[in-house]
Amino acid sequence: MVKLTNKQEAVVFVVMLTLSAVSISCILAALTYELFYPYTFSQNMLGTIFIATTVSVPIALLLAQNNLRMAAYQDELEELASTDSLTGLHNRRRFVELLDRSLAGRQPTAVAFVDLDRFKSINDQYGHAVGDEVFKLLSERFHDDDYDWQVARLGGDEFGLLLSGDFQTIDLEIILSRLHSRLCDAVTSSAGMVSVGASIGVAVYPSHARTASGLLRAADHAMMRAKAEGGGWRFYDAGLDEHVTDAAALEEALARAIARRQIIPAYQPILHIETGRTVAMEVLARWPSSGLGVDPSPGTFIPLAERLGLIDNLFWSLLDHVMTDMADNPSDLLYALNVSPMQLQDRGFCKRLMAELDEREIDPKRIELEVTETAMFRDMATSIHTLNELAEEGVSVALDDFGTGHSSLSLVRELPLRKLKIDRSFTNSLTWSEHSVKIVAATIGLCKALDIQVCAEGVETEDTLDILREMGCDFAQGYHIGAPTPRADAEGGQVIIFRPGGMAIAG
Ligand code: C2E
Ligand code: CA
Ligand code: CA
Repeated sequence: MVKLTNKQEAVVFVVMLTLSAVSISCILAALTYELFYPYTFSQNMLGTIFIATTVSVPIALLLAQNNLRMAAYQDELEELASTDSLTGLHNRRRFVELLDRSLAGRQPTAVAFVDLDRFKSINDQYGHAVGDEVFKLLSERFHDDDYDWQVARLGGDEFGLLLSGDFQTIDLEIILSRLHSRLCDAVTSSAGMVSVGASIGVAVYPSHARTASGLLRAADHAMMRAKAEGGGWRFYDAGLDEHVTDAAALEEALARAIARRQIIPAYQPILHIETGRTVAMEVLARWPSSGLGVDPSPGTFIPLAERLGLIDNLFWSLLDHVMTDMADNPSDLLYALNVSPMQLQDRGFCKRLMAELDEREIDPKRIELEVTETAMFRDMATSIHTLNELAEEGVSVALDDFGTGHSSLSLVRELPLRKLKIDRSFTNSLTWSEHSVKIVAATIGLCKALDIQVCAEGVETEDTLDILREMGCDFAQGYHIGAPTPRADAEGGQVIIFRPGGMAIAG
């Protein structure tokens, strides 16, 4: 299939439209002329005009129809990009947008973070279906009859509230205590009455902070303090910031672990749904034996490595481990590594990757790089340049976490993408969320239209896998297929062998 960029398609559309208009006008003029002066035009001339019309009109119509279909996908995806699929509330991205807008207008604005207490125990005790039910009922309690605040689900069991107005006349304390008691009232669920608590932290612009990130941080600190004190609500207090953290110790340990190549890969299988074969493996960083009490998760140490400028070193050291492990596995297995935003800005990245692979005689076609949309938006031109270089060398490029960022259709069309990965928040709500079904179907449709492979992440049940199979999704990844498993350790531990059809572990 020929893949045109937006610009190319627009040019073809305008040319075809002009050609259609000219040829239709010619036909009308010729027919009118023939009426008064019969047999004036030769058969050839009329034939040519007729052919021009029959070619240009359908092409113009096809392109117009294609554009309408793409616009429909874009509308659905835009809705997805700003809504939380479980509650229908705004998501984190929309929340930050609204906050930015409010601060740009210099309106006094209160930001509240709400964290539900003991919610996890409901999930553990009654299961996730009841947990979700209670969660949805609680999310309806954020509505306040008197104040029209914006409510977002920020992730997990955390909500964000935004209220602009004149706080000389609005009594925030009354609003917060009303909200807090509504959230603490028992909920009637299918499993009976359950109750949770809530910890609320509040920060106000301009008195507590003057930037969006400062306000979010302040509200978060206030919420943590409320939580530490057993719930309730609390305003930000600069004294809260004086907490001594052991951040410095963590930074030091991470730098050391990366230098000593102690960050190692775990592998998670990716299933080709139609054939049931494991065709690829995502490489996920792990920091075992960190010596820090609890080993930090990638969610903690990856952003930290990015901030400390160590992410590039971490990538090359992981790649080195991966290239060693590749020798033990079938040569048609694809290895997908995550790349960070700043790595795409490095004009020498592709060259270095090719040199490393070449040294170990590894075919670049066995490597896939997962990039996120946010990574792309840092410096679009350089990112696209790097990705084009990689694609030309045979490296496969996958767009990760699709649905959580901008979900930009034009980006999907401009990049040399082989694959798009649907974020797990949509996949694991497929069995009960109409919204997620629509979004996943639209995304799969988009990929088919653009000839891009599509993979659903976070597949946790057979039911979800069945739905994806029905929808025509190409690949699936998730705990139901296989959890990330660390590589064999050097002291003669387990060796992971990947076989067609799945993953086996031999001693
Ligand atoms: P990601 O790229 O979206 O990776 C998938 C995450 O989903 C992994 O979390 C994986 O363990 C988890 N996961 C897999 N299947 C399921 C499932 O069925 N249900 C649920 N709930 N989760 C599932 P992990 O390993 O904690 O990694 C978190 C994130 O850290 C990754 O998200 C990726 O963005 C980043 N990351 C991990 N390793 C690297 C790395 O080497 N380099 C870079 N730059 N980022 C990395
Ligand atoms: Ca990934
Ligand atoms: Ca992902």
